[in-house]
Amino acid sequence: RDSTLAPSVLNDFPILSKQFDSDGKINHNDDDNGKNIKRLIYLDSAATSQKPTAVTDALTRYYERSNSNVHRGAHALSREATEQYEDARDKVANFVNAASRNEIIFTSGATDAINLVATSLSHTCGRDPLQGELYLKAGDEIVITEAEHHSNIVPWQMAAKRTGAILKYVPACSKSGEFDLNAFKGLIGPQTKFVSVQHVSNVLGSINPIDSIVEIVRSNAASDALIMLDACQSVPHMKVDVQSLGVDFIAASGHKMCGPTGIGFLWGKEEILNSMSPYRGGGEMIDEVYMDYSTYAQAPARFEAGTPAIAQAIGLGASIDYLNNIGMDRIHNYEVELADYLRRRLDDVKGVTVLGPPVGTERAALCAFVSEAVHPSDLGTFLDIEGVAIRAGHHCCQPLHRALGYSHSARASLYFYNTKEDVDAFITALESTIGFFSSLAGGGDERTNES
Ligand code: PMP
Repeated sequence: RDSTLAPSVLNDFPILSKQFDSDGKINHNDDDNGKNIKRLIYLDSAATSQKPTAVTDALTRYYERSNSNVHRGAHALSREATEQYEDARDKVANFVNAASRNEIIFTSGATDAINLVATSLSHTCGRDPLQGELYLKAGDEIVITEAEHHSNIVPWQMAAKRTGAILKYVPACSKSGEFDLNAFKGLIGPQTKFVSVQHVSNVLGSINPIDSIVEIVRSNAASDALIMLDACQSVPHMKVDVQSLGVDFIAASGHKMCGPTGIGFLWGKEEILNSMSPYRGGGEMIDEVYMDYSTYAQAPARFEAGTPAIAQAIGLGASIDYLNNIGMDRIHNYEVELADYLRRRLDDVKGVTVLGPPVGTERAALCAFVSEAVHPSDLGTFLDIEGVAIRAGHHCCQPLHRALGYSHSARASLYFYNTKEDVDAFITALESTIGFFSSLAGGGDERTNES
């Protein structure tokens, strides 16, 4: 049991010591003014994580000391900025164990990374810009699941529309959130050219069986079929080794792993990336530009048109240093225990149904849930008054919610800086909110009886 992790990092995250006053505002002056002050409890890290000072300092340091455009100037500042930007690429490559630094494309986030692949494989230049041949053709099949985040659905709908490819969904039929390998196998055949699935669900918290998924695709799909993993909810929380996963692409967002917003990455196998057509044209991504045609640089420049998010990439590098310093195994082990605690405590709350795996199954440190007595958005509002930040909505997973029979859910999501005490405070606030709404409903009944 590692109860020292969260307390030992708390000082790294000034925002986590912020207080919340009875007006429902963050108290930035740290004075109570006679108001009922509560500690802010942040349980929305699946949406975005908080940032340690190591990351905010890296951003400030870059802007104050090294700010310049990269890859261009002959001057010292530009060399320094370029060195730091490319150094961040090395850090990402090492973090996910890429075979080469050229396999890391900086994007604005996971959504951008998935769009890069979906667009590149479905527009007229196709995979091989010299021959102009499309990778995805009419009748080819793209397989995703009903449980995907919209960012792993909509780009594929667009790609299918553009090319006449057929988009197929593995149903998300069970509330336990188990990946239906049988249904998946039934959908995979020689027509399957692309498979894109999430590693960890941002609603169910379930961890998908990537080994089995890869095995099924490699033995049943088209011989050149490609597999993409939406690793948005796994990379921040566990050691992800792209070489042992056996997939062709992964997408992740920096802001969910203690890094800045506006930066994320696509990892792809070098040979595949260099056979794909660029999806955006501009400076930096070319070899030669003539009036009637251009030739393209190899990856990663091939996919990084224009001035990149330099400071954000450097900030992401700092967040990777920070996470490595703690150790991804330590973070993962700590969160497994915290996840179990959250799941068990929610199980004991009357009238609450937790989506995803049952108690006792390993899951990510997040729980989406519904209450019989209170609508998720009312839960969000009432917990906010108590200083507990959770999320309510469809979490960008409308097809999944529909399949489970709900329009919305509430979600508490944790990171390594959260503690069991945070979970306790959340459960107390949840129980009192449910109690309050139940008493209103009870009161309503009584009034009805009286009349
Ligand atoms: N996939 C999953 C599973 C996610 O949780 C998210 C973010 N909620 C995304 C994709 C999209 O990430 P971003 O908005 O950072 O591009």
